[in-house]
Amino acid sequence: MKAITRQKSPEEIQQDLDGLGRVYIIGCGTCATLTRTGGNDEVQAMKEYLQGLGKVVTGSIVIPTACDEMTEVSLRENNHAIQNANCLLVMTCALGVQKVGSYLTKPVIPALDTLFIGLERSPGVFHEVCAQCGHCVIGWTAGICPITACHKHLLNGPCGGTSNGKCEVDKTKDCAWTLIYESLKQQGRLELMRKYQPIRNSQIAPRPRSVTVS
Ligand code: SF4
Ligand code: SF4
Repeated sequence: MKAITRQKSPEEIQQDLDGLGRVYIIGCGTCATLTRTGGNDEVQAMKEYLQGLGKVVTGSIVIPTACDEMTEVSLRENNHAIQNANCLLVMTCALGVQKVGSYLTKPVIPALDTLFIGLERSPGVFHEVCAQCGHCVIGWTAGICPITACHKHLLNGPCGGTSNGKCEVDKTKDCAWTLIYESLKQQGRLELMRKYQPIRNSQIAPRPRSVTVS
């Protein structure tokens, strides 16, 4: 399970760094490395890009796990180069960005957009698996999340549009509720399909979401 991130456009990064000529770059050795958005290679490429814009890169580091407590130690060890910069450009998920920012008073600029928590189901293809909805129901849906896997985020069984096991909204995708039904059947727990869950407001963000990183 990873925080899935995507690099912001060069134009946005350039705009966010407007007036900030000296930059220290931070990457993350965990999620952002696995999604190829903030590992060693991407930090190096960012360094060259910024230098091409005429910026001074005072240093860079790929912190093993930017969102954990050891980040403070890494920042302390690199304090000289960090103090030499006007700002930090952070190539981690938003949690890492905020973690870094919590130890510093300098501007901390995110270079990535944090999209969702997901799994890599095939190389470079990430699927959202949890929307952190605050009330997990996968204990009675056979481990399949109806919020992220169903286009309508239905909690009480399939809509009327499912056809031959495929979703009516996207026919290339399996219907989440068909998968839930088949799994519960296999587990001998089909009676759980009758359990009622109160409806929630699911209009806040369209789902399911996925992203392909090349
Ligand atoms: S029901 Fe789905 S979105 Fe909610 S906590 Fe469980 S896995 Fe996450
Ligand atoms: S067809 Fe299945 S996955 Fe698609 S919206 Fe209806 S219940 Fe959800």
